[in-house]
Amino acid sequence: MELTVTKHATCTFCGCVCDDIELHSDGTRVVETKAACILGKSWFLNHDVVRHYPDALVDGQEATLGEAIEAAANYLYEADLPLVYGLSNTTCEAQRQAVTLAEMTGGIIDSHTSL
Ligand code: SF4
Repeated sequence: MELTVTKHATCTFCGCVCDDIELHSDGTRVVETKAACILGKSWFLNHDVVRHYPDALVDGQEATLGEAIEAAANYLYEADLPLVYGLSNTTCEAQRQAVTLAEMTGGIIDSHTSL
């Protein structure tokens, strides 16, 4: 099988946004990376074009987006100090909304890089 080589790909996993990554893909998934750190390599190698999850889960069960939003709103309403956490592989616009959500709910915000 012939692989497609993409040079100067950008990794958006951790926020450093390395833009000198070389990717080799078979049309379905990335099978090799060059110049990515172990986190970036894992991120690239574990994504494919197959959809693995439904749009939303509530308590581990498939839910509609509306049901998920309602559940999230209830969790936030009942929380004493909501933690808005994660945000890797997240657009600037979504991060801006996450900061607004943390401010509106009196919560705090953190990214996975604090690990
Ligand atoms: S996860 Fe690694 S390769 Fe990806 S942006 Fe961060 S430091 Fe760069």
